[in-house]
Amino acid sequence: MGEEERALPIVIVGHVDHGKSTLIGRLLYDTGCLPADKYAEIQRSSEMLGRIVEFAFAMDCLEEERSRGITIDTTQTFFKTPKRRYVIIDAPGHKEFLKNMITGTSQAEAALLIIDAFEGIRDQTKRHAYILGMLGLKQICVLLNKIDLVHYSKDKFLELKTEITDFLNQLNVHPTFILPISAIHGDNVANPSEKISWFDGPTVLQALDTFHELKVEEKPLRFPIQDSYRIDGKKILVGRIESGRLVKGESLFLLPEKKKVIIKSIHKFMESEVTTASCEESIGISLQGRHRVERGHILTGDLSSMVSDKIKANIFWMDSMGYRAGETLLFRCVTQEIPCRIEKINKKFDPASMELIEKDASSIKGAEVADILIQLDQKVVVDPFNEIPEMGRFVLEKDGRPVAGGIIL
Ligand code: GDP
Repeated sequence: MGEEERALPIVIVGHVDHGKSTLIGRLLYDTGCLPADKYAEIQRSSEMLGRIVEFAFAMDCLEEERSRGITIDTTQTFFKTPKRRYVIIDAPGHKEFLKNMITGTSQAEAALLIIDAFEGIRDQTKRHAYILGMLGLKQICVLLNKIDLVHYSKDKFLELKTEITDFLNQLNVHPTFILPISAIHGDNVANPSEKISWFDGPTVLQALDTFHELKVEEKPLRFPIQDSYRIDGKKILVGRIESGRLVKGESLFLLPEKKKVIIKSIHKFMESEVTTASCEESIGISLQGRHRVERGHILTGDLSSMVSDKIKANIFWMDSMGYRAGETLLFRCVTQEIPCRIEKINKKFDPASMELIEKDASSIKGAEVADILIQLDQKVVVDPFNEIPEMGRFVLEKDGRPVAGGIIL
């Protein structure tokens, strides 16, 4: 896929009923990305209910198709502006949201946080804002939706804007924009609105268009080894480049041992040898000389990674069964799989209220966020999540099922 075709992945979060589905429907419709037959279907359903076109139905239609296994995956909903394409990687009602964000099933590069201007900040607003802060997401746009319900009032908007800014700043979330919108009436989503002529900021689409794509390519190389094969007497190491680029002849480090190695050849699938390979490509390589290399080793361009058997992290417990002190779990980060124990639970939070539940706790249970110290059986190679996301997130497993997702601070 060409660079210009890549879609910027965004996530739309906010409290239930604050207007996420309606906004998605509106974005698809106003950018001409909602198929005509879908629109007709929505119009019919809305008329039956005697309402103006209910864009939330667009999501229901897509959802229904997905459940019938036909076409659209709601987690892959696209829309476009003249500048670029966007993909909404998480959809409303998607209970997997937190899990997906933390485990990296979906990696958002920008977020829209929607807040009902009539209701203000609610539980899930807090919870989602907390997660955005924890993930270190920088490109955030807050949408004060249903501005029609507060009579398009400038004073109400400014009052809420101050309240929300104060609240978000406490969580280290600094939104780039705070915009008044009405998703249902289409005010200030794709088009500016007369009804809020007092507002001189951008529309939602203009705000999104100012955001940047995160360039993992410019970061230092991280090449986790997935497997090794012997082909024509040559040892080929395969894997996926998680950040940076690889150049033939370059000297690199093999971690965790920190051994210096030199790239002898780079092979792409179905291609003859190449001289460079970049981020997100799955490739095979060979090294000069003989080295003991196996799955879980990481090739890096520098020595800035953390290499340790003790790591501090923030985890989100998602299993119904809690963690009992001393229990062994499996730590998975890229191709590394190492048994571990949670040695210390420094602090535990309720992600909804963000209140401290307990210091020096002895257990963690469903939906709790905790600041912990992990003791591993062997050294792992990790990076802070904010710097190299793929190397900074991990999953803890118990008996083969994921019980927690975490990020390295
Ligand atoms: P979600 O749970 O966040 O996906 O919220 P929905 O999109 O389903 O919206 C919840 C309700 O709010 C629906 O009845 C929508 O019609 C209504 N709604 C959404 N946006 C607006 C808006 O801008 N103005 C008004 N008045 N109602 C809205």
